[in-house]
Amino acid sequence: MPELPEVETTVRGIKSIESSVIEKIDIFNPNLRWPVPNDLPNFLSGKKILSVHRRAKYIIIKCSNAYLVIHLGMTGKLVFAKPSDTLKKHDHIQITFINNEQVIRYNDPRRFGSVHLVKDNLDDFKLLADLGIEPLVFEFDGNYLFTKARKRNVAIKTFIMNHHIVVGVGNIYASEALFLSGIRPSVSACKVTRRKMEILAKNIKHVLSVAIEKGGSTISDFMNTKGEQGYFQIGHQVYNREDQPCNKCGAKIKKTIIGQRSSFFCSTCQR
Ligand SMILES: [Zn+2]
Repeated sequence: MPELPEVETTVRGIKSIESSVIEKIDIFNPNLRWPVPNDLPNFLSGKKILSVHRRAKYIIIKCSNAYLVIHLGMTGKLVFAKPSDTLKKHDHIQITFINNEQVIRYNDPRRFGSVHLVKDNLDDFKLLADLGIEPLVFEFDGNYLFTKARKRNVAIKTFIMNHHIVVGVGNIYASEALFLSGIRPSVSACKVTRRKMEILAKNIKHVLSVAIEKGGSTISDFMNTKGEQGYFQIGHQVYNREDQPCNKCGAKIKKTIIGQRSSFFCSTCQR
């Protein structure tokens, strides 16, 4: 599943379409997680792209009259292609630009992704309205986590994966950040000290930033917009390493289920 780093990589990969004007949009198959709005091609044709950015795992393409919001779901990707390139299986949407040799295609074998047209205020869009803070902004820090964790009995791993608290901390990144911070994933969020929360916030930023630098790291078949294979789980300290030796102390990495998610930790290094 594309995680925040893959989505960020995708956004950076398609930044070059900023200032382009959409010539047309072809919808080959509207049956994604929700039906693609059928007024989308008419509404956006001839409109200029003002910016491309990311909020949580949504790709937000700001056009001169509306926002095109894309979620990659489980298997979605945006790739550049030449208009003459044969359509691939599962290419569902194509965006063509005026005076641009490349088109963008949305490909999604499992069709859990979605494409939305937001004509009003983006902040009111229902899928974005309740989201927590972005992990890579300055305001996300140990104090934020510590304050939000008061009276929360939920496991710290579940807490940092809650997108009402902070967005984009997926299972891999939560596991890795907790290991680097020496915090056991099952500890109650409210029991983690302010000092430890500072370390944790820094490590969440660190693992996400490293993954973004490497172009995204999931075990799915993520491809960046140039069609290159995404970085492949190299450098994981605990994730998917059950029974393998801890890189710090040599003890066997343990696996447990927390909040219905597989969780990996070292019982010596993480308390
Ligand atoms: Zn260890």
